[in-house]
Amino acid sequence: MSLVSARLASIHESTTLKISAMAKKLNKSGLDVIDMGVGEPDFDTPKHIVEAGCNSIRMGETHYAPTAGIPELREALAEKLCDENMLDVTADDVVVTPGAKMAVFSAVQALMEEGDECVLIGPSWVSYEPCVAFAGGKVAWADVDENFLPIRLADAITPKTKLILVNSPSNPTGTVFEKPVLKEIRDLACDHNLFVITDEIYEKIIYGHEHISIGSLPDMEERTVTINGFSKAYAMTGWRLGYMAGPRNVMKWVTRLLSHSVSQATTFVQRAGVAALRGDQESIGSMVAEFEARRDLLVSGLQELGILCNLPGGAFYVFPNVAEHGGGDVFTDKLLKDALIAATPGSAFGPGGKDYVRLSYATSQERIREALKRMERILG
Ligand code: PMP
Ligand code: GLU
Repeated sequence: MSLVSARLASIHESTTLKISAMAKKLNKSGLDVIDMGVGEPDFDTPKHIVEAGCNSIRMGETHYAPTAGIPELREALAEKLCDENMLDVTADDVVVTPGAKMAVFSAVQALMEEGDECVLIGPSWVSYEPCVAFAGGKVAWADVDENFLPIRLADAITPKTKLILVNSPSNPTGTVFEKPVLKEIRDLACDHNLFVITDEIYEKIIYGHEHISIGSLPDMEERTVTINGFSKAYAMTGWRLGYMAGPRNVMKWVTRLLSHSVSQATTFVQRAGVAALRGDQESIGSMVAEFEARRDLLVSGLQELGILCNLPGGAFYVFPNVAEHGGGDVFTDKLLKDALIAATPGSAFGPGGKDYVRLSYATSQERIREALKRMERILG
């Protein structure tokens, strides 16, 4: 009898988390590794949010809370989703989770049946496919063009398709889906009676584009689960706070799954979440302005080195094509061995990513300049 289940044994370790741990370890050992591997804001959580969390602990809010979240947070989230995302939801349609990752995981488990298919559009975040595999489902990869926009999306749909997963702005490509693309996905979902899970965790990290929630398009309310979290917009990765909103009967089953697994998101962390939503939003504007300056610096630097790279509309990643430099796996190895730069190979994001490498610019402009110098040396 084998030790672990076949279902778990089929799942890879998270490449992003593995590379992050490796870069930290190498730096600790005294090497000067530039970490462009991990997708984590290098900013501190704003002080008023930290204070709210600390006050909550001091006030003794250290006990169990309702599985779907404390009422104050669900209320604040429902207001945010109505006002900013044009979703017609109330607090009862919102479920709080320990991180957006758990929201993705539990929504996929709730919606997918053994043998069902989930469409992923081009290179996609590392954890989507494992979530689908855990549910006994399969991923159908939809092709994208050179701007990472879907082409022939209908070809990816079969009688077994249950879900389309949308992630705009995208990790790893930074692509933003504008309204016509979202409408095309909407039309297919309606025509084929499919669900859509939309992961909008980078909605605030967007440069000169408008973020549109696909759940706000006509007839999408009953077939969309909208997922978001506090990790990126409020630099709260370690707090583990995310949420989802969707049809009430889906939220009911998701809550049941959470009640038997994580129980709830940490009570005082939820208080910090209320402070994040209700407090000053200024920190987001300054963080995004800094990310935009870094994006411009990195993209122009890569282009000067002759590396093919799009200007992404959102998130904090660039996804250059390095096919001419041996492909994503070879180039990532070379970056680490010869330039001490940690990056994530595009292959971690699915078969469409093998010619690419993902570089996160959640690191200072000084470090980005240094990384470009090191790249020039190894390419020279
Ligand atoms: N979705 C995407 C696209 C991400 O990049 C991340 C970052 N890890 C997550 C979800 C999960 O975020 P968290 O669990 O930290 O809220
Ligand atoms: N989302 C980030 C990334 O892609 C954090 C790591 C993870 O959770 O995958 O690097």
